[in-house]
Amino acid sequence: MTKITRKDFLGLSAAAVTSTVFGSSASVNAMQVTSGTGNSSRPTLIRDADLLTMDPELQEMRGTDVLIENGMISAVGKGLSVEGAEVVEASGMILMPGMCDGHRHLWHTVDAGRLAKTQPGLYSTYQEWKMRTIVSMNPEDHYLAGYLGGLMAIDSGVTSVVDYAHGQINAENALAAGKGAKDSGVGGWFALQLGVSSTYKPGDVVPLSVADSQRIAATTDTHWATAERLQKEVFSSRTDIMQLGLAPSTGMGSNIEDINKEWTRVRGMEVKMLAAHVHKPVSPTPQGTMGNRDSGVPDLQAAGLLGPDYHLAHANRLSSEELKMLRDSGGMVCATAMGEFPYMASANRGPSVHGRSRAAGVATGIGIDVNLVLTQDYFEHARAAFWSLYLSPEGTEIAKAYKSEDTLDFVTALGAKAMRLGDMTGTISVGKRADLVLLRTDRIGFAMLGSLADRVLNFGSLADIDSVWVAGRARKRNGRMIGVDWARLKSQVAEAQARIGSSAASITFT
Ligand SMILES: [Zn+2]
Repeated sequence: MTKITRKDFLGLSAAAVTSTVFGSSASVNAMQVTSGTGNSSRPTLIRDADLLTMDPELQEMRGTDVLIENGMISAVGKGLSVEGAEVVEASGMILMPGMCDGHRHLWHTVDAGRLAKTQPGLYSTYQEWKMRTIVSMNPEDHYLAGYLGGLMAIDSGVTSVVDYAHGQINAENALAAGKGAKDSGVGGWFALQLGVSSTYKPGDVVPLSVADSQRIAATTDTHWATAERLQKEVFSSRTDIMQLGLAPSTGMGSNIEDINKEWTRVRGMEVKMLAAHVHKPVSPTPQGTMGNRDSGVPDLQAAGLLGPDYHLAHANRLSSEELKMLRDSGGMVCATAMGEFPYMASANRGPSVHGRSRAAGVATGIGIDVNLVLTQDYFEHARAAFWSLYLSPEGTEIAKAYKSEDTLDFVTALGAKAMRLGDMTGTISVGKRADLVLLRTDRIGFAMLGSLADRVLNFGSLADIDSVWVAGRARKRNGRMIGVDWARLKSQVAEAQARIGSSAASITFT
């Protein structure tokens, strides 16, 4: 197998890292360097903001300036000035790092609202909805979904995502989805699910069991060819802020040998994000398969397969021993706390793992997961991550010692680490990418007292987001996305939804 070390990964992004203005002072004029983002706009000076840096050294800083040059944070301090900079007056406003979402499905966004999590009877048809919808979407729909999904993230202050792309039945759809996500300008990973093999079409009558088995089947040459085309045609630049990840079709219940083969090939492609949905099996799987021991982490460890590229979504029932194995191998965990509330009723799931995982020293984030049905307001998800700690006695103990920063950690500094971006984003620190969110605080109901972390976590909402910068580029200003014709996009979405809905309804499962 190929061992992926942290050093290898940093080597990957070395071009982006070394070309930035580490530690440059405010007196230095904009340096002619490439940030790797294609952004060579004039410097931006955000003046007199209250900084919720999430940097353990800097913490909270009142009335402080932040200078953005070449896509990076080049200085943090009082009274900064730089020639030719665009000045953003931010007195009384809160500047925080762009947030991170470690697990969401951007392709859902084109059909958002079709189901509702608050209507469990309807939501229980999710897999069926998925099986109907993925064969009803064309490449244009996927481009639109990826693009729109990325814009929605940015609009809500989320500047990095792991897009778990498991709705693309062929290469054209996958390439369009990847391009849409990349073109939206959001950072992170487009993690393609290998093995999606649905062959039935709108109008067909097909046994449900057949459709279900094709949702994720074995990875074939066709799937590998799609992954290779994505890498070559969409994600060829190692310095773009969105990179290709892959979700192997092997996992829980698969033979370790098969897992070994597939993962080795993924790693051989130099793909640095190996994403997985992990749920503990109801009863142990046979020996020699993943899931024979606990949630399968010990099975992977015994085979030497764990590594810093392994990213587990959900993973609610991970044991303490498994968490230690992940910590020691550099693995990452992403709980999707709001969506996981109903898991409490399920024997093999249970309360979200993020509290225990963070306490065990594992890089841990949270995510929306089901964009189809849950709010884009990411502050709601951060709050849900805190409240869900109380769903277990152990979590209740963990919550007791929490400050608001500990919860915000999941969506900023630690959340960035939990998607292999801890050196690039997640804090307001000199040398980090300028992924920033500026919040207004003058709305009725936005508390005036308390620490910045307390105020943001308890009172912040999407409606408070005044501005968002991604890699130094302003994408939202004065509460509005820049360059987004929402009226036009909205009519495209409405057209797609009507067509997808009727195609999906024309399939009969028997
Ligand atoms: Zn998911």
